[in-house]
Amino acid sequence: MQGKRGLIMGLANDRSLAWGIAKALGDAGAELAFSYQGEALEKRVRPLAEQLGSNMLLDCDVSSMDALDESFAQLAKKWETLDFVVHAIGFSDKNELRGKFVDTTMDNFLLTMNISVYSFIAVAQRARPMMKPGGSLLTLTYYGAEKVIPHYNVMGVAKAGLEASVKYLAMDLGPEGIRVNGISAGPIKTLAASGIGDFRYIMKWNEYNSPLRRNVTIEDVGGAGLYLLSDLASGVTGEIHHVDAGYNVVGMKAEDAPDI
Ligand code: NAD
Repeated sequence: MQGKRGLIMGLANDRSLAWGIAKALGDAGAELAFSYQGEALEKRVRPLAEQLGSNMLLDCDVSSMDALDESFAQLAKKWETLDFVVHAIGFSDKNELRGKFVDTTMDNFLLTMNISVYSFIAVAQRARPMMKPGGSLLTLTYYGAEKVIPHYNVMGVAKAGLEASVKYLAMDLGPEGIRVNGISAGPIKTLAASGIGDFRYIMKWNEYNSPLRRNVTIEDVGGAGLYLLSDLASGVTGEIHHVDAGYNVVGMKAEDAPDI
């Protein structure tokens, strides 16, 4: 990734999926900028960015189009071109990530869609003018988009929208040589995941029933992120790439799975 420059959006701490990807990219020689949500997170993000030799930090709440405009304007002042963006952002009211999907409120439906889906489209719109052929966008999704996962609720519907957005964006930006992909990561204990009801059960179920009989790590996600953002994946776009220890291919409980 020597000579490539990219923006990482959604780093909260060293357990974030964004950190796994940023580390892999930084180790491979990429130059990185980071956006974070609000001042409170800056003190966590700055030392991590510094570890990867970056002091380019942008305060950006993606629900504000003005904040997005400002962040990309700041980026354009420092960098003439942008090679990649990692969008590792999702949000929903945690009161609706327990109980039943049928009880989803309109306010939280719109909030969840805005931050978890529309923001990726808004980012693509702003990254596009800075990208040359070979540019690449990556977002993070979850199996709850494909199948019903207990308590994932409105976030599952948002991820389904996000995965469809990956495909539509890939088609629109493909003629310009810009690739758009998603990683569907298995469950990993992060700040965002702690909002999901009974997440421990989901982790155990995946560990016992995945072909690899383990959960994935942010390093697993980082390796796949590096591949998708690099020229090694030059022929790959519109793809939802599972990094889930193979869980998505399984149709039944494993015979050797212990009770949870
Ligand atoms: P995380 O809490 O480390 O990251 C979530 C990030 O979203 C945080 O940095 C937070 O600041 C940011 N964010 C939320 N609202 C925002 C807003 N309005 N503006 C800007 N940023 C905002 O958790 P994570 O698990 O690393 O999540 C990253 C992505 O990975 C999410 O899209 C999540 O759905 C996805 N994902 C997570 C898992 C998992 O099990 N942890 C699995 C598959 C996919």
